[in-house]
Amino acid sequence: MQSYDIEPQTLRALQERSAFFWANPDHAATLAPNTEIDALIEKAQDRMLRAAKLLQKLFDLPSAGVGQPAIRSALIPLSGLSANIGGPVFAKGDHALPVAGSVKARGGFHEVIAYAERLAIAAGLITEGADLAPLAGPEAKELFARHSIVVGSTGNLGMSIGLCGAALGFRAVVHMSVDAKGWKKDRLRSHGVEVVEHDGDYGAAVAEGRALAEADPLAHFVDDERSLDLFCGYACAARELQEQLLAAGVIVGPTQPLVVHLPCGVGGAPGGIAYGLRQVYGADVYCIFAEPVDAPCMLVQLASGRDDREVSVYDIGLTNKTELDGLAVGAASMVVAPLMRQRLSGVYTVTDAEAHDFLRHLYQGYGLKVEPSAATSIAGPLLHWQAMEAAGIPASKAAHVAWLTGGALVPDVEFGGYLNWR
Ligand SMILES: *Cc1c(COP(=O)(O)O)cnc(C)c1O
Repeated sequence: MQSYDIEPQTLRALQERSAFFWANPDHAATLAPNTEIDALIEKAQDRMLRAAKLLQKLFDLPSAGVGQPAIRSALIPLSGLSANIGGPVFAKGDHALPVAGSVKARGGFHEVIAYAERLAIAAGLITEGADLAPLAGPEAKELFARHSIVVGSTGNLGMSIGLCGAALGFRAVVHMSVDAKGWKKDRLRSHGVEVVEHDGDYGAAVAEGRALAEADPLAHFVDDERSLDLFCGYACAARELQEQLLAAGVIVGPTQPLVVHLPCGVGGAPGGIAYGLRQVYGADVYCIFAEPVDAPCMLVQLASGRDDREVSVYDIGLTNKTELDGLAVGAASMVVAPLMRQRLSGVYTVTDAEAHDFLRHLYQGYGLKVEPSAATSIAGPLLHWQAMEAAGIPASKAAHVAWLTGGALVPDVEFGGYLNWR
């Protein structure tokens, strides 16, 4: 029995694996408040400010300004793309976020720090709401060394959780499948992270990591599909962007709306950022996700119209086999998808070949080194803005932000392979 109900034209485009823009029919200009998540994001914002000195110390980062988080990225004008649309186009440089080199630094560092803070408060090392700099001290290190942080990840999430956890003194364990990239395993191991390799696929690695962690009261499992600490860490990016757009002279409002293009895997990173942006800009921001043609899991989930039941890309006959490894996810997070139901304006799909073309374009035109997953975010400003316009999104008069989600730490040999891909 068919367990989904996707509109036939959309289903055909999905099954043909063509690159297309899908407008979300459930997008709403006004939203009912979600006070629980709003409060958690407020706390995350405050926590990351209290963690600024800690992170500077742990990772030898340049000192952030007063009231600025240590983990922040640049807003980069893409002047060539602006000429194409009319309004300004920017890239958000999360590919170069400190230490982890991807958007996962936002959610991952927040999750690790929130866990460390809970432990330190319970042990009487700090009080609630205090600056977190003492978490870099010897007493805290000794406390954290008795605990582990566990994550299942083939890539950037493992890097972010592993590096931040190990720096604080935790036993950090990253479960990976054997076919995960060698340079990532090497980098983690050289920073004192335990890498556990699994013969099965990624799903098996996650399941095994979860089972091991859940059986251990001194272990914390980072759940990419369900974690609100990850989600809220990502959401903090919205206010950072708001400040940067203001500084760049962009006044977001009905005369100049904002369109933000976000690469989507399981949905946590782009979902958290989109949630935060809707908090900040309300109806004046249009959030769009970018997904691989072979793994459009959020599009499938939202187009199915269901929030009560998972519909995966396998259910409609797709394979989830894509070179865009940061986005290779078969089923969207069922925590995030319902939160996107009314907040998201649409999703477009990108072929592997297009993503590599965009990667070359960003490197040759702007000197930006991003991974294929991240390059998908310029497909919106380059290819799909007229389709957006036709669907009622005021793309031609908007300012656009393409979120570059990862890549600055990719080794040159690997990056050369991306440049020469096919
Ligand atoms: C993880 C990741 C994403 C997407 O984040 P999800 O939370 O999985 O949706 C996008 N780009 C890159 C480079 C990533 O590593």
